[in-house]
Amino acid sequence: MGGLGRPMTDHVPAPNETPGLVCAHHHLYSALARGMPAPPRTPANFTDILELVWWRLDRALDEESIRWSAMLGALEALERGCTAIIDHHESPEAIEGSLSIVAEACATVGVRVSCAYGVTDRHGPDGARRGLAENERFLVEGGRGMVGVHAAFTCTDGTLEAAASLAADHGVGVHIHVAEGEVDAPAADRLRQLATDDWLVVHGVHLADEHGLAGTIVHNPRSNMNNSVGYARPARFANPVALGTDGIGADMVDEFRLAYACHREVDVAVSPETAWGWLATGWDLFPEARSDRVIWNHQPMDPWHLAFTPGVGPVEVTVDGEVVLADGSPTRVDSDEVRSRAAEEAARLHKRLAGP
Ligand SMILES: [Zn+2]
Repeated sequence: MGGLGRPMTDHVPAPNETPGLVCAHHHLYSALARGMPAPPRTPANFTDILELVWWRLDRALDEESIRWSAMLGALEALERGCTAIIDHHESPEAIEGSLSIVAEACATVGVRVSCAYGVTDRHGPDGARRGLAENERFLVEGGRGMVGVHAAFTCTDGTLEAAASLAADHGVGVHIHVAEGEVDAPAADRLRQLATDDWLVVHGVHLADEHGLAGTIVHNPRSNMNNSVGYARPARFANPVALGTDGIGADMVDEFRLAYACHREVDVAVSPETAWGWLATGWDLFPEARSDRVIWNHQPMDPWHLAFTPGVGPVEVTVDGEVVLADGSPTRVDSDEVRSRAAEEAARLHKRLAGP
C-alpha cells in the first residue's frame, strides 16, 4: 500500500480505494476549446500559442460559456476520480462574477474547487484592476480561492505587489504561472521578495535549480510537452511539487503516469513513488479531498501497478459524505445533458471566434 497518502482519520483504505484526487492547476474555461477554429497561422512557439489560441479564446468567453465550460470540466474531473480542482480563470470580457459562476458549476456537479482570477496588465491597467477586484470580491464573499496572476511577464511590478498584498490580507496564496516559457524566465527575480509558502508556482520549466522562490511548484507534464516548452525536471527543486493538468482535463492518474514516464525518460533509476508523491502533495494543498473516497475499478491502487496499468477509473466517488458518482455515473447531474448543453455553448463560442 505504498504511497497512498496521509489519511487524517483511522480509516484504512481498501486496496481499490483512495482519497479524492486533486488537480493542482486547471483552467476549467478551456473545456470548450476542443474543436475551436484554427488560428490564422500555425503557432511557432509558446508566445504564439498564447496569442493565437488562449488569448483569443479567453476574450470570447461570456457568462454562459464560462458556466458550461466549468460544468463540463467538473464532470470530466469527477468521472476520473478528481474531487478537488485548483482552478485558474481568465475571461477579460466577463470578469465580474466569473469566479462565482465557476464555483457554482463545480458545486452543481459535486466537485470541490478553489478559484482564482488570473490578473494581467495585457488589457491595460483597468483590466488588471478589475481582475484584482474579482479575486477580492470572491474571497470577501467567503469563496474558497487564491489570488490569481497570469504571469510576471504580462504584469507590472505594481500589479504583482498588489496581488501579493491582497492574498496576504486574505490569508491565501497567489496562484501564478512562472517560467513556463523562456519569455518568462526572468520571473523569479521579480517574484522572489513577494512569494510565500502558500503560493502556487505553476510550471517552473525555466527556473534555475536554486531559484529562491517560496511555494509549491505545480508540474503539468502533458501541457509542457504540448507547448514544447521543455521538461521542468521537478525532482531538482527543494520546494514541494504537485501535479496539475493546465486545463487538459483532470485525469490525475493519467497525469501521474505521464509524470512518471517523463521522469523516467531522464533518469532510469527513479521509482513511480516520486511522481505519486507529487500527486499526494495535492492533499496538502486541498486537505478536504483527503476525506473524499474513490472506489476504483482496479486494485491495488499502488504507484508501481498504476504506472503500467491503462484504463484505471472510478466506480464510486463520495465527496463530503455524499455519493456523487455511482456505478461510474454522476448522481447530481445528467452527464448526457451536461455534454449536450456544453456542445451547444461550444458551437456558439467557436462561431464568435470565427467571426470578424
Ligand atoms: Zn495554466
